[in-house]
Amino acid sequence: MEKKIPYKTYLEESEMPKQWYNVRADMKNKPAPLLNPATLKPMTVKDLEPVFCTELAKQELDDTSAYIDIPEEIQEFYKMYRPSPLVRAYCLEKALGTPAKIYYKFEGNNTSGSHKLNSAIAQAYYAKQQGLKGVTTETGAGQWGTALSMACSYFGLDCKVFMVKCSYEQKPFRREVMRTYGANVTPSPSTTTEVGKKILAEHPGTTGSLGCAISEAVEVATNTEGYRYVLGSVLSQVLLHQSIIGLESKSAFDKIGEKPDIIIGCAGGGSNLGGLISPFMREKILGESDYRFIAVEPASCPSFTRGRFAYDFCDTGKVCPLSKMYTLGSGFIPSSNHAGGLRYHGMSSTLSQLYHDGYMEAVSVEQTSVFAAAQQFARVEGILPAPESSHAIKVAINEALKCKETGESKTIFFGLTGTGYFDMFAYQKFNDGEMSDYIPTDEDLAVGFAGLPDINL
Ligand SMILES: *Cc1c(COP(=O)(O)O)cnc(C)c1O
Repeated sequence: MEKKIPYKTYLEESEMPKQWYNVRADMKNKPAPLLNPATLKPMTVKDLEPVFCTELAKQELDDTSAYIDIPEEIQEFYKMYRPSPLVRAYCLEKALGTPAKIYYKFEGNNTSGSHKLNSAIAQAYYAKQQGLKGVTTETGAGQWGTALSMACSYFGLDCKVFMVKCSYEQKPFRREVMRTYGANVTPSPSTTTEVGKKILAEHPGTTGSLGCAISEAVEVATNTEGYRYVLGSVLSQVLLHQSIIGLESKSAFDKIGEKPDIIIGCAGGGSNLGGLISPFMREKILGESDYRFIAVEPASCPSFTRGRFAYDFCDTGKVCPLSKMYTLGSGFIPSSNHAGGLRYHGMSSTLSQLYHDGYMEAVSVEQTSVFAAAQQFARVEGILPAPESSHAIKVAINEALKCKETGESKTIFFGLTGTGYFDMFAYQKFNDGEMSDYIPTDEDLAVGFAGLPDINL
């Protein structure tokens, strides 16, 4: 008889990764360099230093070190909530009647409720090491701000969060978690920054966007002595820290003697997906193993599936470096979508290059189908998933149902990035049958593309 695989596989403390893995080191075509928006020359550590912590600036530009030591203090912090379990979704398999094996890695077992704490603690650590007083950031749905406020309170750093105004109003509980951890939370756009005032003058009554909150946070970081700016996704350093997810997964699969065929993750800025797939991607790039990687994005914000691969601004205020990525244009404002963490206009430059080179696939899915999958998953697997994570669930279910048709027993693995406890407003809309599926038209997208900087060849 086949050996029974446990419902949950955990690593021992001694088996936990001691280094992060930097997939850029093994990529044949490296991601295009970040460009200085003033000179259009590649950014150097010196250019990045006024905005980012020095060590993080180095990690951002490091395309050659494959493995980077995880400092002991961060390893200790990880032990409070990691390893996260690799779960065999026996109940979901049974409910679907599929011959496929389904696994997921659950990152929601910490107060911030998502994988974002993996990078927040690293970024706070390097800020502390540098002797800084505090950090500034933006948050959309609130998960990143929550994770960062936890990390800052652990290291005794001040934390200033610009929270997209509509979330600030719709998600008062997230805001209160941040304040409980000592963060200062300002709704964005605000009158506390020059860029905020300018945006408010141009768009009175706006409820804000991520790109706009980024501009405010960067302005405060660069104008305040002892402060730097930190970002929860998109950047290469964040993918690096999130590789802990993939490294743990790989060890857990090795432990149970299994190997995924298909690896699926939701893609907002690309950090959880990048971290999840990195060690597996390494094997694919080096020709040691083959996997299918699938990025899942909302049909309302389809950066990979309908975006352009081009240099673009990372923020609305155009103060951040230019990044070459799949983008809808920094001026693209997605329709209101309940997966707040997937509303960013651009995508990680690393994942963009891998996608461009054919190492990865991408699909987009509509909101109501995502919530139907979330509900189905919650009812059989017990966990109430975050709307963002549910994009991956939806596609995992699709793949499992394809196996049912063909009779193939593939091993499907997806990243379950977080819990949906703070998203009950969205679940309510779904339960009341009031959720809509707005998909931007080509004309809508053309508006965003028109704002791309004209340095693209
Ligand atoms: C932020 C977030 C995401 C999307 O961000 P990525 O950087 O693309 O990983 C996905 N799921 C949850 C729960 C999040 O909080």
